[in-house]
Amino acid sequence: MAFVITEACIGTKDASCVKVCPVDCIHPAPTEEGFDTTDQLYIDPEVCIDCGACEPECPVTAIFAEEDVPEHLKSYIEKNAAHYRDG
Ligand code: SF4
Repeated sequence: MAFVITEACIGTKDASCVKVCPVDCIHPAPTEEGFDTTDQLYIDPEVCIDCGACEPECPVTAIFAEEDVPEHLKSYIEKNAAHYRDG
């Protein structure tokens, strides 16, 4: 299980979540290459430890625990994973 960043991040990219993640698994961070051009940020499901710290930080409620992702946003589970798997 992991947390997942969904549609509301697109065009928002607030990135408050990046600062609170204890394992640095949310990218691209504002200081990283790719931040300006990415649609949204992504959580690496292989690294996320399910701590939940990021969820309340998001001002647009884009982050959900994998099991709580709303039905119409479930494609984002794969979208987050693919970002790391496929580069
Ligand atoms: Fe990072 Fe915790 Fe959020 Fe996973 S749940 S992305 S480990 S802050």
